Amino acid sequence: MPTHVAKPAKPAKLVKPVKPVKPAKTPAHAFAKTRKAFKTASGKQGQLWSLPALAKTFPNVNRLPVSIRIVLESVLRNCDGKKVTKEHVAELANWQPNAARTNEIPFVVARVVLQDFTGVPLLADLAAMRNMAAAMGKNPKAIEPLVPVDLVVDHSIMIDHFGDKRSLDLNMKLEFQRNQERYQFMKWGMQAFDTFGVVPPGFGIVHQVNLEYLARGVHKARDKATKETVYYPDSLVGTDSHTTMINGIGVVGWGVGGIEAEAGMLGQPVYFLTPDVVGFEFTGRLREGVTATDLVLTVTEILRREKVVGKFVEFFGEGTSSLALPDRATIGNMAPEYGATMGFFPVDDKTIEYFNGTGRTKAEIEAFEAYFKAQHLFGAPRAGEVDYTRVVTLDLGSVTPSLAGPKRPQDRIELGNVKQQFTSLFSLPPTENGFNQPAALLHTRHVVRAHEAPQTTPRAAPAAAPGAARDVVEMVGGRPLLEAAQSEAASVQPEVGDTSLGNGDVLIAAITSCTNTSNPSVMMAAGLLAKKAVEAGLKVAPHIKTSLAPGSRIVTEYLTKAGLLPYLEKLGFNVAAYGCTTCIGNAGDLRPEFNEAITKNDLVCAAVLSGNRNFEARIHPNLKANFLCSPPLVVAYAIAGTVLKDVMTEPLGKGKRGRDVYLGDIWPSSDEVHAVMKFAMNGKAFRANYDKVASEPGKLWEKIKGVTGQVYDWPGSTYIARPPFFDGFTMEPAPLVAGVTGARAIGLFGDSITTDHISPAGSIKEDSPAGHWLKSHGVQKADFNSYGSRRGHHDVMVRGTFANVRIKNLMIPAAADGSREEGGVTLFQPSQEKMFIFEAAMKYMATGTPTIVFGGEEYGTGSSRDWAAKGTQLLGIKAVVARSFERIHRSNLVGMGVLPLQFKGSDSWQSLGIRGDEVFSIRLAATIAPQQDATLVITGADGRSREVVLLLRIDTPIEVDYYRHGGILPFVLRQLLA
Ligand code: SF4
Repeated sequence: MPTHVAKPAKPAKLVKPVKPVKPAKTPAHAFAKTRKAFKTASGKQGQLWSLPALAKTFPNVNRLPVSIRIVLESVLRNCDGKKVTKEHVAELANWQPNAARTNEIPFVVARVVLQDFTGVPLLADLAAMRNMAAAMGKNPKAIEPLVPVDLVVDHSIMIDHFGDKRSLDLNMKLEFQRNQERYQFMKWGMQAFDTFGVVPPGFGIVHQVNLEYLARGVHKARDKATKETVYYPDSLVGTDSHTTMINGIGVVGWGVGGIEAEAGMLGQPVYFLTPDVVGFEFTGRLREGVTATDLVLTVTEILRREKVVGKFVEFFGEGTSSLALPDRATIGNMAPEYGATMGFFPVDDKTIEYFNGTGRTKAEIEAFEAYFKAQHLFGAPRAGEVDYTRVVTLDLGSVTPSLAGPKRPQDRIELGNVKQQFTSLFSLPPTENGFNQPAALLHTRHVVRAHEAPQTTPRAAPAAAPGAARDVVEMVGGRPLLEAAQSEAASVQPEVGDTSLGNGDVLIAAITSCTNTSNPSVMMAAGLLAKKAVEAGLKVAPHIKTSLAPGSRIVTEYLTKAGLLPYLEKLGFNVAAYGCTTCIGNAGDLRPEFNEAITKNDLVCAAVLSGNRNFEARIHPNLKANFLCSPPLVVAYAIAGTVLKDVMTEPLGKGKRGRDVYLGDIWPSSDEVHAVMKFAMNGKAFRANYDKVASEPGKLWEKIKGVTGQVYDWPGSTYIARPPFFDGFTMEPAPLVAGVTGARAIGLFGDSITTDHISPAGSIKEDSPAGHWLKSHGVQKADFNSYGSRRGHHDVMVRGTFANVRIKNLMIPAAADGSREEGGVTLFQPSQEKMFIFEAAMKYMATGTPTIVFGGEEYGTGSSRDWAAKGTQLLGIKAVVARSFERIHRSNLVGMGVLPLQFKGSDSWQSLGIRGDEVFSIRLAATIAPQQDATLVITGADGRSREVVLLLRIDTPIEVDYYRHGGILPFVLRQLLA
């Protein structure tokens, strides 16, 4: 990077001339000779850091997986002898498919993407860093993202209104009322940081917008010294697990916690252990009637079995070339579900076709194609061309229509087995993934009397904290917008009347999630199926909450042009939002009488959605069975109304003249889908749509007034507050007290504790520490909004840590029937008093007692969520000891200065007989090194001690530094201010 050097001052007369100081020479690039020229089809010339040239020194480069070569380009280009050394280049160039993985790669990404829930706390941290810089007399502008950062506002809209043409408008108005303080803060960020952009609400979902608009193929930078333009491939990290969707267009990138993203945007490399790369070879072609969703559920099931956690997966082979770009993106999207860091597809002709169809410019496309060809990175490798750690093969022709569920995305069920599977799970115990119900109750039904008043989700505009700006409360007909919107609800809610509910009934049917809404073929298939269903006389019962929430406005445009939207609307699938909605748990509430009937009768009711996750309580707290499937199957199950109907053999419903209509009667053929696909890929339409991000961001957004200035002044708010992570900050870190002494266990958890268990995104219970805090600050229950929307406020988030209504702290003894209490409670030791985890944590902190969490397998699985680590730290928890960790959560714990430790062999807290009333210490070696042994000392209530060896899951040398500095945030701030 060129260094700015001030001109030496002229020597004054009569004073001994001072020899001008020579500017320090920037060391020559260790691989300067690999910088080469290349030309685009139109003859435009550029420079690149050439991998073929590097291969002259390291012939192994030619055998590397494509994904590794793209990372290698970044390492080569950024080789400055400091953060990235020539040894790093050599190590990666010599990557071996089956070597021990001990080296870390410093990966400097080209850009960062954020969704709004995770973006706001990150912006709050940046703002707090600026406060700290200003307080230390430094220039606050020293804190500035060094790479482009785009935040897409997509997580905040909920399905309050559905099944009507006004649904979208009303839902957006409610969204703006609920989130105005957050949106004001984002607008401050837009004007304070030069490289921070926002795609306002109502445009779409981050990963689909990224795919269709933000990703431009290759980046270019002007070399100030040579005046040449240097091109480099797109790469990124995003603060959402499903960032991997971008792998479908050949971009290397994945989800990281907000903590790592902050470091990435502030010029720090993202460090990760050199990965294994599993090659996934596709052969054959998909059969008639099989969708990309069926394929991704099959891939997820296979790769879960193959245990690809922490590995790259790279797709190759002849079958790969037959897959359309959106199909690849769907498969990339679900990388977190199969556990891989990435699900990568190399760039090829299909990628270029997609860039053309989505309105990228000719110059961009030419540069993109020429660059990848010049780097020998164009086209999926054929079998044997590349060395992979191991190879998995799938014949596309063997994929069958499927659903996944009812509790985990990897539990694929063939369509014809869904009824049978639900029936057997109904009475199996939870340990076998079942619902633990008496089999005799499966077919019982319960009459539900309609409540008189139509309902809308009882969450409303946030109450303003003292001093909070409330200048955007829109008035409609002399009434606040919210009131007007709620009253309009009366005419928008479908008439339901009395009905009955039973096990297996579908209550939510949602075409949701970027996973599928980015894929025109499955969206068109849903439209075609709806058309045939309507023409056959089929209907959807009005009590089912149906919604269509595309990940971009383009979907509505092509469904309209293809003449299919009216049919979806006839079945209740009106556009209700452009955002994540049901996928993130923003499905809105069910009618109160349904909630009552479900809880009173312990019913196992269902949701069907085209999303990627179905963990407990993710979709709706009262829906225990959640099935992931393709958009056309969502429509089909909405019509069927129950998962206890075998849609392969039984009629979906009665059509015209009482005729039985089967799924086969209305399932669209691939020719029919193909015929309407011409409406989907229209470059001009894509361009016109995304031009509006700047030119017509929307009236509601334009009305939001942001605070101005370089430093945020934190107006009073229950949504946004200055985070405490830099309190007491000094330029030198305090001497490290490694390990933990005299700790108490605050939680004993089982397997698969998700980040949502640790830091829920959904609703805030009134009787919870966060609920109590909000009420004490004048916020009424109706205004609580969700944890996700309050991630800019640590006082809410720390109280919400471990507050998921479904989390089971196994420290609480089982009830007589073997069931376990749910909710964030613990036994305070040694008194054994039961209380909220937050309350116990505060009591322990008041006496200086450190705390530890014990977990099982896959601790921290699920969406990347920085608050799962931040909240853990703020509760005073010093270590988490588990059987295994999810990748991002483990690194986030280190990033917040919390020790992750892993049991060895078959050890677990259960096998060691840990009960929760012991005192614990953790001893580390005098010199901390990655993945060294540590010792857990357990002292029982009888005073007897025993020792257990654990594995320290600080995985890389840079993580040792983060731990020493008390976390990555103080580490980065010290670097920036030094
Ligand atoms: S739709 Fe789902 S997967 Fe996509 S960004 Fe939203 S929450 Fe994540």
